Amino acid sequence: MTQQFDVVVIGAGPGGYVAAIRAAQLGFSAACIEYASYDDPKGEVRLGGTCLNVGCIPSKALLQSSEYYDMATHHFLMHGIKADGVKMDVPSMVRRKENIVTQLTTGIRGLFKKNKVTLLAGHGGFVGTRDKQMWQIEVRGQDGTQTVVDAKHVIIATGSKPRQLPGIEVDNKLICDNVGALSFNEVPKRLGVIGAGVIGLELGSVWKRLGSEVTILEALPDFLSAADTAVAKEAWKVFTSKQGLKIHLGARIGAVSQGKNGITVPFQADDAAGDLECDKLIVSVGRVPNTDGLNGGAVGLKLDDRARVEVNDYCQTNLPNVWAVGDVVPGPMLAHKGMEEAVMVAERIAGQGGHVNHDTVPWVMYTHPEIAWVGKTEQQLKADNVAYRAGQIPFAANGRALGQGDTTGFVKMLACAKTDRILGVHVIGTNASELIAEAVVAMEFGASSEDIARICHAHPTLSEAMHEAALAVDKRPLHF
Ligand code: FAD
Ligand code: AMP
Repeated sequence: MTQQFDVVVIGAGPGGYVAAIRAAQLGFSAACIEYASYDDPKGEVRLGGTCLNVGCIPSKALLQSSEYYDMATHHFLMHGIKADGVKMDVPSMVRRKENIVTQLTTGIRGLFKKNKVTLLAGHGGFVGTRDKQMWQIEVRGQDGTQTVVDAKHVIIATGSKPRQLPGIEVDNKLICDNVGALSFNEVPKRLGVIGAGVIGLELGSVWKRLGSEVTILEALPDFLSAADTAVAKEAWKVFTSKQGLKIHLGARIGAVSQGKNGITVPFQADDAAGDLECDKLIVSVGRVPNTDGLNGGAVGLKLDDRARVEVNDYCQTNLPNVWAVGDVVPGPMLAHKGMEEAVMVAERIAGQGGHVNHDTVPWVMYTHPEIAWVGKTEQQLKADNVAYRAGQIPFAANGRALGQGDTTGFVKMLACAKTDRILGVHVIGTNASELIAEAVVAMEFGASSEDIARICHAHPTLSEAMHEAALAVDKRPLHF
């Protein structure tokens, strides 16, 4: 007897597991198909996708450990703490990261049980329809078993995979994508990174703090071109001059080779040309949607020109009752964006009015200083001919930041010149990832800069910089 479900989700990353849980909460029979084991010691399927296994969570664990090391070796002294002989034990750091990952991926299994989501271990793909009523989905197990289940609704949440560069073969030993780069067992003396995006800068920062000489080659002529220009400028100054990351912009890469001197990457950049020699190379040139083996072609699933599943504002594909969420559809490849889409889809299947406001999805980079923003950048407002007022407050004018010994960066608020509605907020500094939440809430509620200016912020906190930035929009900051 073929198993039937109201909702079958393909992929158990943040988009997929959240969709399955929310569907089950809404009273649907829900199943989630996942095949990846990410080298699980027991060979079991691991839930949580890229994010939990080889993305957000492990990278943040390593960033935290390496930041503590950097603090102990470079910053404790200003607080009067002398910490001699501080040593980094890389295998312990990596083990800690793996324990966190295991805890969280096991936790998702627990959530599936609690919510009565059926886990179908295997590779999911479309077969066709049963009487044009139900979708037939094949689940191919690692042991070669093939089962077909019927689904009234299908949610595709198959995520993304690293983009490859032609001629550069990733072995995840010497030449690594995010998977290998999160598991080095020692600090490489010389680390090359191709791509100065979020992943390249975060992972480059981890190993730089632990002592690697890090050189990053970026194809674009501008640094962090998606960020507000003022933020990108500040970040460039801190990362290169203060932290010593070598970053070459406008870089074109030649044929990569391996020999006695390690890996050689010939390059020609705006400021330099030559051979970058390194012991490990991270290739972090973006990610591409993953539709491998989904067999979407057989049922006429429409992809766009970048091979992403084509969807409307409600994540509906061109096929009836087939939805898609997360990295496999257009929009920023961010876990929280996928999770929001997942909730929306489950609620729409239930006939509710779920929606996602893509204009208030926050962006975060967990370098030090952290970078976070929501809404429009100043350059976007200029390009769109929107009249705006800007307020910018440096953390150097914030008592808490001074007490913490870290005054790098600022908060910048952009508001409509006519209505004062907040259009964008940009933070570079300690805890930017947490501070941005206030701006997201404000923008979701259509707040004006005056609203933030009139809200009592605890003293002394970093959030006072947000308050002051709002006051600065009206040219009346109190402490700057
Ligand atoms: P994924 O997490 O990629 O999950 C898709 C799942 O589907 C995978 O488990 C895959 O095995 C499975 N799958 C694919 N095809 C099939 C199939 N046919 N059958 C069954 N299963 C299938 N985002 C943030 O928001 N914050 C961060 O700090 C952050 N840091 C990151 C750091 C790194 C190093 C990387 C690589 C990414 C980071 N991201 C971060 C991005 C984030 O990981 C992704 O946006 C998020 O994981 C996307 O979720 P998803 O569910 O769409 O896809
Ligand atoms: P992200 O999209 O945040 O993962 O960042 C990927 C980065 O890699 C972007 O800044 C791209 O411009 C950069 N990039 C893409 N292709 C190349 C390439 N061939 N050489 C160097 N950098 C690249």
